[in-house]
Amino acid sequence: MIIDSHVHYGANSPWGDFSPEYLLEIMGEEIDCAICSNLEGLYSKNEYDCNMDMLNVARKYPKLKALAVCEPNLAEDESVIRSLLEKYPEFIGLKLHPECMKLPADSEKYDKYLRLAQEFKIPCLYHSGHIKSRFSSPELIYKKAKEFPDVPIILGHLSTGPRSSHERAIEILLDSIENDTATLYADISWIDSSFTELSETLDDTLYLIEKLKNTKKGDYTHRIMWASDAPVGEMNQKREFYLKNLNIFKTRILEYFGDEDLLENLLANNAVNLYKL
Ligand SMILES: [Zn+2]
Repeated sequence: MIIDSHVHYGANSPWGDFSPEYLLEIMGEEIDCAICSNLEGLYSKNEYDCNMDMLNVARKYPKLKALAVCEPNLAEDESVIRSLLEKYPEFIGLKLHPECMKLPADSEKYDKYLRLAQEFKIPCLYHSGHIKSRFSSPELIYKKAKEFPDVPIILGHLSTGPRSSHERAIEILLDSIENDTATLYADISWIDSSFTELSETLDDTLYLIEKLKNTKKGDYTHRIMWASDAPVGEMNQKREFYLKNLNIFKTRILEYFGDEDLLENLLANNAVNLYKL
């Protein structure tokens, strides 16, 4: 089984015009399930319209599992998201994008949503940006995550930027694990590849896995999930590249760690356990 733990669809987004069918076509039969959110929530639709659309898509295409996009920058309170979570168990987590919202990840405006995540026992997927970003730096996300230590918070893409930015995000993950300060996860989309070029070596991804495999508290690789962020980025907009990306991951994990179980966990089991799929 393979789960893509970070995908999107959405009409007229800054990254392109993506129908759910287009996303499904790129992923093809190799992917059994994908954790999906509607990009329209970041640009054009309010929380209700964006997420009702997502709900309908998830019902039509059961392969797509829904995250509710939250708009703490615009919404008056968390009541819309609360009622969606109460009515529709199809929503298995929340999606937050501090960079697009231009709302620093440690802002108090996130608190009501994180309290919902706590109450409904669901994870929050954050876009985690450059370590120097004043909106989506993993340091800011970590600050907030520490206020809600029992809420699983996923650093989507780990962090953007160069090796040094990844290293700092990995330090943050290790600190949260070894000092029991927060429940942080990471997905590996874009860690090594750029929007126009696929990495063949996955150096920083392997470094992340190695570090979490050897924490002071033991193997914490269950906190890492494979993901593509498709169809965002040129490399995710052709089936051929999408598959190549997936195959490079499989090959590199087996070459480097020689561990089939680890590969299966990263590709599926970790997401199954986190999202209770
Ligand atoms: Zn995303």
